[in-house]
Parts: sequence; structure tokens; C-alpha cells
Amino acid sequence: MKKSIVVIGAGISGLSAAYRLNKLKTQGGIDLEITVAEKSTSPGGTIHTEYTGGFVVEGGPDCYFAEKPYAGMLIKELGIADRVIGTNSKNQGTSVLWHGKLYKLPEGVVLMIPTKFTPFVTSSLFSLAGKIRMGMDLLIPKRTDGVDESLAEFTIRRLGREALDRIAEPLVAGVHAGDPDTMSVRSSFPRFVDMEQKYGSLIRGMISARRAMQRRRTAGSGAMFMTMKNGLQDLINTLQQQSSQVQFKTGVEAQSIMRTHRSGEPAYVVTLSSGEQLKADGVILAVPAYVSAGLIASLSGDLGMLLHSIPYVSTATVSLAYRKDSFGTALKGFGFVVPKKENRRIMAATWTSSKFSYRAPDDAVLIRLFVGGAAHGDMVFLPDREITDMVKSELNDILGVSAEPLLVRIYRWNRAMPQYTIGHESRVKTIEQMITGLGNIQLCGSAYHGIGISDCINSGNTAAQSVLKGLFG
Ligand SMILES: Cc1cc2nc3c(=O)[nH]c(=O)nc-3n(C[C@H](O)[C@H](O)[C@H](O)COP(=O)(O)OP(=O)(O)OC[C@H]3O[C@@H](n4cnc5c(N)ncnc54)[C@H](O)[C@@H]3O)c2cc1C
Repeated sequence: MKKSIVVIGAGISGLSAAYRLNKLKTQGGIDLEITVAEKSTSPGGTIHTEYTGGFVVEGGPDCYFAEKPYAGMLIKELGIADRVIGTNSKNQGTSVLWHGKLYKLPEGVVLMIPTKFTPFVTSSLFSLAGKIRMGMDLLIPKRTDGVDESLAEFTIRRLGREALDRIAEPLVAGVHAGDPDTMSVRSSFPRFVDMEQKYGSLIRGMISARRAMQRRRTAGSGAMFMTMKNGLQDLINTLQQQSSQVQFKTGVEAQSIMRTHRSGEPAYVVTLSSGEQLKADGVILAVPAYVSAGLIASLSGDLGMLLHSIPYVSTATVSLAYRKDSFGTALKGFGFVVPKKENRRIMAATWTSSKFSYRAPDDAVLIRLFVGGAAHGDMVFLPDREITDMVKSELNDILGVSAEPLLVRIYRWNRAMPQYTIGHESRVKTIEQMITGLGNIQLCGSAYHGIGISDCINSGNTAAQSVLKGLFG
């Protein structure tokens, strides 16, 4: 008998789930109806690329982390691996704003961990005492009680306060838009916890990881961060095109999921904002956790509350294009991050056209600033004019750029970035146990096992396989 599955949400997680269902249906000759319901008028979620005046502007993410294999595997499967580019090999590096000046993060510092002796000891970003304290990581015994620490506690324990204030905190703000005092290190950076356990030291662990990375790069597998030549929209469009047997309903919001309890009938009814009711034998929720909470509240109030307890922060990206000669000196590296102690109104800046090729015409530069996050969420919702003036004034203060930009693009992401706070792992475990009590409903997306694009793709694949297993065994 024909079965039907409804996927709610068409960000990268929902699209990956729909694509996988489509593929398994085609390969297995399964009689299956697949419908995706998406609130926005187009799929992609936080992934959105705008093409304007020769610029390729990413509104949300601009790349994926190549160390996690799922994005690369999917891109290969879609047959578009020849359209992938890595970060430019020239002029790499990130700076840190400290006491109003930009200091290059010493070569060999990977995330927050130093792995090369000379650039680290000669760097003026850290004091002598700070460097000695970071080096003590080699001697401090590993923690063995399995307690879920905050990123701040973990960093101070292993590497000291300077490592937290001058690298870990601003890098985390740049990547997760989060607060290191509340973020769980185990859920946000499991790799650090594993390194401590395996090597007894982050420095030893990272040196070993860096060597492995170099071996892979020498073997030709490329840069640490990759993207599509024409922007990540290319991945979204291709996923949708290759999900040919999936029915996409865009511009409609899922409003509730009810159980039918009639034998021989599909188990669920999903009601859309258009009034349409979709019957489903299985449902995949690929929406933020607080949206899933509302959708299943009538099926399990307790589960709804638990899903609601995963906090989110809001961010905005502001892309600005300038004539190349607007900057007194050439832009160094790929950008800079801003520690909280600097009291600035931006979290980070990326020199987009230095980081990736094909992003701007030859005589122009494209840069991107990050606003909001755990510390300054309210700034995201300032009017366009105020945000533009604010970031221009920050740029003028930090870099002395007073020229008028050729282009300004602001993208606001309201409650789009989940925060893995202390206890996240056990919260997710409980959520996953509780959802099994609702029959064939699966959760996927950035709220649970990783916020990166690769993690989201993996979560979509897993949800698709689980829901099919629930239907056909
Ligand atoms: C500014 C920014 C920069 C980032 N940079 C990077 C990066 O460089 N690299 C990286 O790997 N990751 C990055 N991330 C993280 C990554 O982009 C996200 O974690 C990932 O794209 C989330 O995908 P998702 O499908 O789980 O959720 P989303 O993209 O949020 O998609 C959820 C979808 O559900 C829809 N929806 C919501 N409610 C309903 C409803 N009731 N009914 C129907 N549809 C609904 C939404 O419209 C949306 O399309 C970034 C995130 C942001 C916000």
C-alpha cells in the first residue's frame, strides 16, 4: 500500500532528508509519496546566496567544514564536485582585535590551540605569562569525572584566561554567536574533549590532528573550508532539482500535527496555514526546536517543553562592497574576530573576496560583518539605516575606511542559531527517547547533533532512513 511522508522545513536538513527519501524510493521501487512543506517562498533556510552586480553575496553560511565528510559526500553524489572551491591558499589567517589593534593569530594556532612553537612565542597577542600558562596544557592532567563543563571553564582549566579572552571567546562568538560561560564544551566542541581524553593535552592532540590534516591535503583533498564556486545556493538548487519525485509546497507553514487513530489510515494529519491537511504515515521535523515544540505540543506537552528549552540566538550578516582603492593598505588574511572585552558592536569581519575566489569583480572587494549573537541580539533588529551606519563607523574606527560602500546587503536571522548549553547532550538523549513514544516522527536539524552544514546533512539522512525503517522495517 502507498505510504506518505511529510517533511516540515526545507533548510539544508529537510532538503537532505527529502533527497534521501527520493533516492531510496527510486532505488528500492517503494510506493511512497514525499511532500515537503516550507514556510518561506523558497527552500534553503539560512542558506541563501544573492547575485548582484558581479558580486556573490552569502546571506547566511559561506562554507562548510571539510573535515566532516557528509557535505563532501552529498556533493559528490549530486555530481557537482567539480563546482567546489576551497579557501584561497594565499594570504590566509585571522586577526584578533585587542586594545583597538589587529593582531594576527599566530601561525599554527588551530581554533584556540597553539601547535607551532616559534610563531606562538614570538606573537605579541599574548603576554609572557599568558604563553607560559597556555604551555602548561602539556602538563595538566586530564579531567576524568566526565562532568559537562562550559567552554569558558574548560579553556581556563587547560589553557588559562588569556586563551579564553583573546581567542576562544571571540572565535566562538564568530562561529556559534554564543556565550562561552553557558555553552557546553562537550556538545559544541566534542573534539576538544576527545583530545584531552586521548592525548592528555590539547596541544599534543591538535599537533597530531594538524599532521593528519596536512597528510590529507598533500594527498590532494584540499582546504579546511570549502564552498560552491557560485555560492551555497547551488547546493540547495541542485538538491531540489534532483529530488524529482518530491512535491514541494512553499509559502505554507505547518501549524499542527494530530494523530488520526483510525485503523488502515495514515497515522498523522499535518495542517498547513493554507488550510490544506496532509495525511502522513511518517513525519520529519526539520525546523528549529522551538517550532517542533509547538507542532507536537498537543501530542506530548513534556516533549514540547524540553524542545523549547533549547535556546536560540539571533544574528545578522552585513555584506559591504568597496572599490579596491578605498582601503589604505591591502586587507590582511581572511578577516578578524572581536573579543567581548573590546566593547564593539560587531562580532567578526570576513574579507569574503580574499577568502574565496569568484566573489567580487576585479576592481572591488566584498567584506562581511557579523552582528548580534548572545551578547547583542537586539542589534539585529535595528532599522537598515542604523545597522549600516553602525558597521560603517566600526570599520572606520578599526580600519580607517571612510569611503562609501558600492553595495550593502543585510540579512537578519531571527532565532536561527541554536545554543548547545551545559546539559545539551543529556537533554537531546531524553528528547530522542521521548519522540519514539509518538510513533513515526523524526527530528533533524541544527538543534541536536551539530550546527554545521555537514552535521545537518547527516541529520537529514539519518531521519530519512529512520522514518523509512519505521514504515517498512
Ligand atoms: C549567519 C549564519 C552563518 C552561518 N555560517 C555557517 C558556515 O559558514 N558554515 C556552516 O557549516 N554552518 C554555518 N551556519 C549554520 C548553518 O547554516 C545552519 O545550522 C544550517 O543551515 C541549519 O539548517 P537547518 O535545515 O537545520 O535549519 P534552517 O536553515 O533554519 O531551516 C529550517 C527551515 O524550516 C522552515 N520553517 C520554520 N518553521 C516552519 C513551519 N512551521 N512550517 C514549515 N516550515 C518552517 C524555515 O523557513 C526554514 O527554511 C551559519 C548560520 C547562520 C545563521
